[in-house]
Amino acid sequence: MKKFFIPLLAIISLYSCGPSGNSEKKDAATSSALSGNLFPDTTWTERVVKSKEEWKKILTSEQFYITREQGTEKPYSSEYNDNKETGIYYCVSCKNPLFSSATKFESGTGWPSYFAPYSSKSVTVATDNTEGMSRDEIACQRCGAHLGHVFNDGPKPTGLRYCMDGAALLFQKEALDTKIAKARFASGCFWCVEAVFESVPGVREAISGYAGGEKENPTYEEVGGGRTGHAESVEVWYDSNKVSYPDLLKVYFASQDPTQVNGQGPDHGPAYRSLVFYNNESEKKSAEDYIASLNNSKKYDKPIAAQVVPFVKFWPAEEYHQNYVRINPGDRYVQMESLPRLRRAQKALPDLIKQEKFPVGK
Ligand SMILES: [Zn+2]
Repeated sequence: MKKFFIPLLAIISLYSCGPSGNSEKKDAATSSALSGNLFPDTTWTERVVKSKEEWKKILTSEQFYITREQGTEKPYSSEYNDNKETGIYYCVSCKNPLFSSATKFESGTGWPSYFAPYSSKSVTVATDNTEGMSRDEIACQRCGAHLGHVFNDGPKPTGLRYCMDGAALLFQKEALDTKIAKARFASGCFWCVEAVFESVPGVREAISGYAGGEKENPTYEEVGGGRTGHAESVEVWYDSNKVSYPDLLKVYFASQDPTQVNGQGPDHGPAYRSLVFYNNESEKKSAEDYIASLNNSKKYDKPIAAQVVPFVKFWPAEEYHQNYVRINPGDRYVQMESLPRLRRAQKALPDLIKQEKFPVGK
């Protein structure tokens, strides 16, 4: 029985969620830039570490000189010096949000100046004794990029002047009340789940990946084979000022059959089980309360099978799984499963899911 069962599972998993493509993996640190968009994300937990050679490949020579060789740009040379637009200044190296336009002021020095960093995870301060002076050097907390110096002659309320090299920064317009949070869900093939959540206003990005298992850096084939404990999962980056976690739960449950045990639709096995990964007690209670209300409502004739589990780690999937429905609308599985599933969710939750035809161009 076992000899027969294992190859069958392997066949099902290969058919069910697409062909085996190239196995290029993204590291978690670059997942924030998967779509090319920037988000003021302060939930990161891993630092970005690259060799000088690797930085050279992704930075211009000026950016490299400033950020990796502690250089200083000429005053009045950065377009950001006079920039008065509303938005966020990110680290040009790792895209960590560093400063908000709300703290920018005209210092008269010729360098973009701010009186406070964006968050407690933006910068670090170290003593710099070069050039015959003792100054406080500012570096990006996430990747160590040199950014400039801080002085205590700034305006209220901090009295500080963060004097930055514009070449170390990357500006993007952004509403200043944006508050990025992350939620992770599993409910079968991640192509489908990603397409559903990317249709929710307030969701900035949904990333396909793996969670719920033990193995580090798992591959698609390993997860599909059911040997790693992971489930195909989606990490949802959302603006919590625009869409709430309880609303994401509604989308999650309405976009699947939450009573299906150990699978979803045509996909069977542990890689396709339904899981809500909670970040804290409040999310855990929201999920458990919602499941209790669904069970009590008698909407389903079987009990809810989706499990509520603590979030540990999310591994972004291989590049060819990202935005799969958007990029491959003619794919057989997308036509037969992903798009019908999205249409059912749109019909069930017209107030929470955009009704427009998917895929739409970005
Ligand atoms: Zn950085």
